[in-house]
Amino acid sequence: MPLMLYNTLTRRKERFEPIEPGKVRMYVCGITAYNYFHVGNARAFVIFDVVRRYLMWRGYAVRYVQNFTDIDDKILKRAIAENSTMEQIAEKYIAAYFEDSDRLNILRADVYPRATHTIDGIQRLIHELEQRHYAYAANGDVYYAVRQFPEYGKLSGRQLDDMQAGASGRVDVEEDADKKKDPADFALWKAAKPGEPSWESPWGAGRPGWHIECSAMVRDELGESIDIHAGGMDLTFPHHENEIAQSEAVTGKPLARYWLHNGFINMDGEKMSKSLGNFRLTRDLLANYDPMAFRLFVLQAQYRKPIDFTSDALDAAENGWKTLKEALQFGALFVALTAWSPEADVLEQEAIDRFNEAMDDDFNTPIALSVLFELAKDLHRGRNLIIHDQEREIPVTQLQQKWHTFEALLKVLGLEVKEPGTVELPIEANDTGTVGLTDGEIETLIQQRKEARQSKNWAESDRIRNELQAQGITLIDQKDGVTRWHRG
Ligand SMILES: [Zn+2]
Repeated sequence: MPLMLYNTLTRRKERFEPIEPGKVRMYVCGITAYNYFHVGNARAFVIFDVVRRYLMWRGYAVRYVQNFTDIDDKILKRAIAENSTMEQIAEKYIAAYFEDSDRLNILRADVYPRATHTIDGIQRLIHELEQRHYAYAANGDVYYAVRQFPEYGKLSGRQLDDMQAGASGRVDVEEDADKKKDPADFALWKAAKPGEPSWESPWGAGRPGWHIECSAMVRDELGESIDIHAGGMDLTFPHHENEIAQSEAVTGKPLARYWLHNGFINMDGEKMSKSLGNFRLTRDLLANYDPMAFRLFVLQAQYRKPIDFTSDALDAAENGWKTLKEALQFGALFVALTAWSPEADVLEQEAIDRFNEAMDDDFNTPIALSVLFELAKDLHRGRNLIIHDQEREIPVTQLQQKWHTFEALLKVLGLEVKEPGTVELPIEANDTGTVGLTDGEIETLIQQRKEARQSKNWAESDRIRNELQAQGITLIDQKDGVTRWHRG
């Protein structure tokens, strides 16, 4: 089955075909750097990270761009409140963005353009809009004339005549209402106010509006038409509608082939948002939960559906992640068990097919996860057989294959144990209930086994491993030649 994805623009699932075969150009709207990002934002970043990872898994070369809005009324307000500057506030929260998103195992974008670094591209675009009569200057401001663009509303499905003032989104509507020709017009450039950062321009000193920055950055970094433009559902209108109006009026080409929007996180039955004041910061959440548990929580719902944020749901995700993490950690055990054979590198096609089938259906991660939980169950069973049945009659190569498949697919969802050195394997008493060998004795035996292996005395090396195994000690031969061990 080909990859099918739901396109907000056409309101249906469509077959994914990139503009250039094998390559995907993808743009995701990033944060406005005036605060730590909330869990609703985190959902979007996790989801589109998974979309990117899945496209890579299917062999596409993905160029991924995500912006930082580093000039905005909110940043200026915060700067005044903290007796700081816009630059300092933006730097602080951009650094915080990287800390939190790295913890969530979100792959870094190829480029992170910033509004203040894109002033030239922004001014060029506004100038072209003006030349084509899509923009007009008014007392140092420049506005987009939405009635000039007949397709305005095609993304959100809104009719221009139904729209009220406020289409400009973040702009304080009252203060520039008298400058606009139409209440639905929105600001491309705003005249400088005393004490605010500003840039020289043909329209006087000022700063860019919010929507124009994304149009300029897409064009500068990815070109006139891209494959996927993504963001939270709340960005559909006015932000993405305005991006389309700005870009397409100038280029005459579709800004993006596919528009992807993720659903909200609900808190107590209400949409979580900054405007409602019921949001949770990702940073606060990660103080109490494993970042991978949050990732799992997000992926347990199809990305367009709303999800309910409750402590029960997060606790369940934490348990789910524990199950997956344990199965992932058994890998070292399965790998240590038998000589490595090329067969062990072969992935289990049946599981991959089911995983891909789910993901090809508009990224149905709940179904994809069910494939992973089945594999985890098999791996747990395999581990128990190994530990309790010394004869090890189970086909270890098959287990190794299963584990490799499991690891590869988990990675497609960005679920990984980030710091293997700090994770502890579950400790169980051995069958005799005694501790048996001391740590020193174990280390000595491991050293003897190492020497046996160096002199290619495989029988002796196996004998020592079996002796330790009988004492409930599991050896893990790492790729770097160091042997780790644990009881149980
Ligand atoms: Zn944007």
